Amino acid sequence: MTHILHRLIRHDYPRAATARGLYIHDRDGKAYLDASGGAAVSCLGHGHPDVLAAMHAQLDTLAYAHTSFFTTDVAEALADDLIAHAPPGMSHVYLVSGGSEAIEAALKLARQYFVEKGEKQRRHFIARRQSYHGNTLGALAVGGNEWRRKQFAPLLIETHHVSPCFEYRGKRDDETAEQYGQRLADELDAKIRALGPDTVIAFVAETVVGATAGAVPPVPGYFRKVREVCDRHGVLLILDEVMSGMGRTGTLHACTQDGVSPDLMTIAKGLGGGYAAIGAVLVGGKVIDAISAGSGLFQHGHTYIGHPVSCAAALAVQRVIRRDKLLDNVVQQGALLRRRLQERFANHHHVGDIRGRGLFQAIELVADRAEKRPFDPALKLNARIKAEAMARGLLVYPMGGTIDGVHGDHVLLAPPFIVQPQDIETIVERLGGAVDAAIAGVAT
Ligand code: PMP
Repeated sequence: MTHILHRLIRHDYPRAATARGLYIHDRDGKAYLDASGGAAVSCLGHGHPDVLAAMHAQLDTLAYAHTSFFTTDVAEALADDLIAHAPPGMSHVYLVSGGSEAIEAALKLARQYFVEKGEKQRRHFIARRQSYHGNTLGALAVGGNEWRRKQFAPLLIETHHVSPCFEYRGKRDDETAEQYGQRLADELDAKIRALGPDTVIAFVAETVVGATAGAVPPVPGYFRKVREVCDRHGVLLILDEVMSGMGRTGTLHACTQDGVSPDLMTIAKGLGGGYAAIGAVLVGGKVIDAISAGSGLFQHGHTYIGHPVSCAAALAVQRVIRRDKLLDNVVQQGALLRRRLQERFANHHHVGDIRGRGLFQAIELVADRAEKRPFDPALKLNARIKAEAMARGLLVYPMGGTIDGVHGDHVLLAPPFIVQPQDIETIVERLGGAVDAAIAGVAT
């Protein structure tokens, strides 16, 4: 009998006992290669001595001080560090405890920005149908995952959703990627006009889509066009890089590869690398200036914001990434992972798409490749792949989701930035075995 409520009331999860480097060991001594870093969290692997030392030192000096009384050296240092490496235009950092809290804060900052400017009529958020922004009510409202939203829908703030940028299923054969991106930007423009441009607060999007569809990068030029549309109507751009940010795609922030800077950006997961619960909003100077010229106070707050031990962990993680030039390894091993996935799956009858950026790669499973016909959701193929992978000592992040009436089974890989070529071989080999076994289990 268990008294802990995980997602499943009844579950038979193994008990994780210890972890070092790329491996998590359960209580029975079985080792699992952590090829998804949990959910793209663990970027340095487990038990990194520099991070542990920084956290211990912080615990010894100051574990906690409430942010309405004090600032701290460690929170200031982390904010300085994040802004020094942020996309152009970012000015301040709001430190929270995770991704959903970061989204909530970003939504409120965006609304308050317009209130301070005297544009109180702005109340609409626009997001995309293929998106996950968290499970708290505000984050769930902007998210586009129908299954997660459904039973809570009556409680959610009204949000408007437009088409995702999903080349595999969204781009028509008779258009170029450029034209596809333009069509999507035009759809956003039309949505803003339909709502009334002076009523829209922000457009919210994941730079590279994570949990709903597995490592879906935008087509080249898409975000530049989106940025232009937002600017044309004075609408803020909020980029959610909770999963895709902090180095996962090969640059610290994924959006720099798309040549855009958002007005607000959310980060979490890789920020603390799993050593502490921490997330943040990077806040553009424009938003800070408006609030500063107005009330001077962001009307928000949580007990654990700017927690010193979490800040120490995040700062140490960022310093190790730079010192050890780990983003170079993300680029190199990401390219190798992609190549090995292609070799293993490009001719696989049930793999329709292989996609991603850096160490953020995914495969999409289909019943029929030519028709891109998905597997019946009732087969729960993604859950079977997870189970088969775990049986083989591999952790991957499988997802099933329905977007625009089309089901998708995806497997996301997001190994820690310290991954080496021999680990990539093990990951692809075990994943291949797990995929084949799971499909054999559902074959009719
Ligand atoms: N945004 C994105 C893009 C995410 O992937 C997630 C978590 N999967 C969240 C927000 C929510 O973060 P958290 O689970 O830390 O609340």
